[in-house]
Amino acid sequence: MLKYKYRNFAPNMAENKLSVYSDEHFMKEALKEAQKAFERDEVPVGAVVVCNNQIIARAHNLTEQLIDVTAHAEMQAITSASNHLGAKFLEDCTLYVTVEPCPMCAGALFWSRMGKIVFGASDPKKGYSTISTKMLHPGTEIISGIMAKECGQIMTTYFKRKR
Ligand SMILES: [Zn+2]
Repeated sequence: MLKYKYRNFAPNMAENKLSVYSDEHFMKEALKEAQKAFERDEVPVGAVVVCNNQIIARAHNLTEQLIDVTAHAEMQAITSASNHLGAKFLEDCTLYVTVEPCPMCAGALFWSRMGKIVFGASDPKKGYSTISTKMLHPGTEIISGIMAKECGQIMTTYFKRKR
């Protein structure tokens, strides 16, 4: 019986998704990932990849755990999303990431042809825009500053604790 209930419920859910699932909604999910990183003593950056209003990948920074400087949240998220879709290119996807991507991740995002990138806090020291805003794919839409305060606060707290 439960199965039928879900089936009946599903079409209504799909109709409501556009209005319910805002950029803030998905950035909150990316922040949850950043929190996981924080708890594991990693630089707290989190990301999710969304396709058709569904989260298809969740990731956070793993550079300490994997002993790998390339294990940024965005890199994990791209790999995970492509695995999920069985596709190299992510034109129909949106990446939500708590902090402005670094040049390495901007390069990877370029190759992925990510449809849209939404980031929270700017990174005036290590963000890709310190080099060039042209690093991202010309077809990629960029939105910045979504929940910037919360996304920046967790980084500030982390680095204060490290000192
Ligand atoms: Zn990066």
